Amino acid sequence: RVRHPKLRRSTHYATLTDKDVSFFERLLSSGRTITNPDECLPFNIDYIKSCQGQSQLVLRPKTVDEVQAILRYCNEHQLAVCPQSGNTGLSGGSVPVFDEIILSLRLLNSIGNFDENSGVLTTDAGCVLEKLDTHVRQYGHIMPIDLGAKGSCLIGGNVATNAGGLRVVRFGSLRSAVLGLEVVLPDGSLLDCLTSIRKDNTGIDLKQPFIGSEGILGIVTRVALACPSLMSGVGLGFFACSSFEQILSTMRLARKICGETLSAIEFLDESTYNLSLKYLQRTNKPIESNKFYILIETMSSTDEQAKATLEKLATTALEKEFVTDGTLAQDLTQYKDIWAIRERVSDALVADGYVFKYDFSLPTSRMYKLVEETEERMKQFSNVGNVTGFGHLGDQNLHLNVTVKDGYSDDIKQALEPWLYEWVAKEHGSVSAEHGLGLHKSKYLELNKGKHSLELMKQMKHMFDPKCILNPYKVLPYKID
Ligand code: FAD
Repeated sequence: RVRHPKLRRSTHYATLTDKDVSFFERLLSSGRTITNPDECLPFNIDYIKSCQGQSQLVLRPKTVDEVQAILRYCNEHQLAVCPQSGNTGLSGGSVPVFDEIILSLRLLNSIGNFDENSGVLTTDAGCVLEKLDTHVRQYGHIMPIDLGAKGSCLIGGNVATNAGGLRVVRFGSLRSAVLGLEVVLPDGSLLDCLTSIRKDNTGIDLKQPFIGSEGILGIVTRVALACPSLMSGVGLGFFACSSFEQILSTMRLARKICGETLSAIEFLDESTYNLSLKYLQRTNKPIESNKFYILIETMSSTDEQAKATLEKLATTALEKEFVTDGTLAQDLTQYKDIWAIRERVSDALVADGYVFKYDFSLPTSRMYKLVEETEERMKQFSNVGNVTGFGHLGDQNLHLNVTVKDGYSDDIKQALEPWLYEWVAKEHGSVSAEHGLGLHKSKYLELNKGKHSLELMKQMKHMFDPKCILNPYKVLPYKID
């Protein structure tokens, strides 16, 4: 059962007419205006099936001119628009709440120029992340982010959410790699910040507000990204620990021993691990079972160095009894098999039932306490499937999930929220580390940022989008009238 919060459609927005549809059909040739309800349906439902809109119109522009013409028309006619890329977002931001027009960026997908001297890729926003990665690898580079959804998410969606992913420890979140952006503003005008130079201290950096603001200020149409060099040496270790304290000790040891070669530090608890293995239909466990698992990846210009630091880590961690068992990937197949256990967790959770999904930044030492307290709190509900904790340990980023066997439950939601968000705010954490606020978390923004910041954000929204047509009801808690 697909749910969304109890909101009301604002009468501020016009209702779509046949005249509007005719305009878009004339603008976008060859079936790029979708009105058939069955064809609109997948664009209306989010990846984890937590919410469903009722849009009757999906527009699929191929050029920036078309994006401009669409927004100009929507702005003039007060039609609300929901930007959508790969629709893998996990906060309900990428699907309409009511009848907003869906602006799908998937066909804006020409891979642009790669500058071999600077390592900068300039590309259309609708390109799939994995395809871009394959492309830049030909030149000895990689994309600056990697995440489980890489085969479906688009680079424009990644920028709009300031995606983090698996290698923030090494390369930072996407913002640090974005050198330039081209953005279509809600009135259809073009903001050209598409510079591909690394240093540019000229006034206010206007591209920044569009990174991570989840499509409420403008449509990202082109992106220039700094791509790190491809390192030929890669190592991957997977270890079992009997307590979260041991996980933390192993992480600290990895920082010391692996130093500059470290590229990922991820953890999973027992229930996450078991769900993932079940989803992957693996009967052979790679290492002896325990309560926690930690995955450490190293990258270096030489294979010897990447592997040597990991081997030293494994030996020392075993000697010190931080880990109870472990394995080091010996070839590409093992490397992919181990990574799949971590990368397929989101799919495994969706297969387990309705998912209440949370994405917190917390002081690492307090991270797992929250999972334990949630588990305790959920004991009263017989329909709770699993309470799981995993995430980007090296970035202090916990993904906490509660699955419910028989679909959405209001009682469970009441028991989780706002309790969880208040818990995180008290620890001075973040209520959304990397997934964004979308539809589900906008009302908790003030807990994190305070009244003054919130007011400034609202003023920025008003400045860029005075008619409030872009991605309404999401990210910022404001009244639309
Ligand atoms: P969408 O989901 O389509 O859109 C996301 C938001 O951006 C929406 O609010 C949308 O309106 C807006 N938007 C989209 N395109 C544009 C545009 N061109 N201009 C303006 N606004 C736009 N996220 C992480 O950060 N780290 C992870 O490790 C991670 N792992 C994931 C693993 C799996 C299996 C899945 C399913 C998701 C994961 N995610 C992760 C979440 C998600 O993949 C990211 O948020 C991703 O960046 C979204 O990209 P998308 O193309 O799917 O965007």
